[in-house]
Amino acid sequence: MIEMQEVYKKYPNGVTAANGIDVKIKQGEFVYVVGPSGAGKSTFIKMMYREEKPTKGNILINGVNIGRLKGSKVPLLRRNIGVVFQDFKLLPTLTVYENVAFALEVIEEQPKYIKKRVMETLDLVGLKHKARMLPTELSGGEQQRVSIARSIVNSPKVMIADEPTGNLDPDTSWEIMNIFEEINTRGTTIVMATHNKEIVNTIRHRVIAIEGGQIVRDEQRGDYGYEN
Ligand code: ADP
Ligand code: ADP
Repeated sequence: MIEMQEVYKKYPNGVTAANGIDVKIKQGEFVYVVGPSGAGKSTFIKMMYREEKPTKGNILINGVNIGRLKGSKVPLLRRNIGVVFQDFKLLPTLTVYENVAFALEVIEEQPKYIKKRVMETLDLVGLKHKARMLPTELSGGEQQRVSIARSIVNSPKVMIADEPTGNLDPDTSWEIMNIFEEINTRGTTIVMATHNKEIVNTIRHRVIAIEGGQIVRDEQRGDYGYEN
């Protein structure tokens, strides 16, 4: 369902961050993307939701070549891919409820449906009781749970996460992983770039290691494979 064919990415400054990537990820898989800083993990992930365009090659999401997608079709793609960031990227002036509802409001869902769906999604991440709060009133882990709720509220088939536990303490990181596991169990494909060795080596999933813009290792139930 996600396929890269001979994908290259050269930034305008001349850095090649993807150097011939071929990969297939099936619906329902959970994939960790690991590798040293500067290896090209973020670039790999950003190309999957068209934050970056490949210089060469094809990126197919459910058969659609997103590298060739017209700008006007990008919002439609984004609706089918939930994205979670290391720094949450919540809208600071909106409540928890409003941050999560936003994605459904822009596609003009029925207000009644929006309310039901937002509250059930907040319930899934354990934050129903904090729906009225502002992001600044929440801990980092709670903010990340809001951003997870936002990313899945419109039931995307794919969730992309770039270092989602990078700003969180170990206990909070495990809580976030439990939510990811639940989301994956319900059928959502997850692709997660991470430096969290303990998590990768404990909750085993497919591991793709990237170095110098190339996939150097791809193992089912792999291990982290680096010292930190
Ligand atoms: P990682 O996520 O593994 O740290 P990145 O994909 O962020 O790796 O970066 C890979 C390489 O591409 C690095 O050399 C980085 O400096 C470079 N790079 C990343 N983003 C840009 C950009 N927008 N412009 C120029 N170079 C970039
Ligand atoms: P429950 O019926 O489970 O108690 P509620 O519908 O009362 O859930 O909502 C719980 C929280 O979500 C409340 O804090 C409420 O203010 C907030 N909330 C519900 N709907 C909206 C909305 N449309 N806009 C902003 N906040 C909302």
